[in-house]
Amino acid sequence: MSDCIFCRIVEGEIPSRKLFEDEDILAFHDAAPQAPVHFLVIPKKHIPNIMELGDGGAALLGRLLDTAQKLAAGQGCSEKGARFVINCKSDGGQTVDHLHVHVLGGRPLAWPPG
Ligand code: 5GP
Ligand code: ZN
Repeated sequence: MSDCIFCRIVEGEIPSRKLFEDEDILAFHDAAPQAPVHFLVIPKKHIPNIMELGDGGAALLGRLLDTAQKLAAGQGCSEKGARFVINCKSDGGQTVDHLHVHVLGGRPLAWPPG
């Protein structure tokens, strides 16, 4: 059994509220939503963070972001938009070391981050 929470979600060992799934990608609602819309888009393959994408990384990242924007539209964010975030390591605020794109929407979000 993996000790990575998101790998365990991919394997179905931890339940999640899925939004989308294909061979390579899974999207599910965040367990602690910070906005009315807050979901995560992850590769099924364990990649620790965006700085460790490796071979094929550009294509995978493109697919993650394309999936994120399509799902954001499906969640009602087309008109007012959303925020697409990838936290990386400690200074980036990453708490789960499995690459993920956050999508937050449904309310105005402050900038810059604290
Ligand atoms: P990070 O801080 O690494 O960018 O974001 C990790 C995100 O994963 C957080 O927003 C947190 O709420 C979410 N998260 C952590 N554990 C779980 C879980 O077991 N299920 C779901 N759905 N989200 C989780
Ligand atoms: Zn993982």
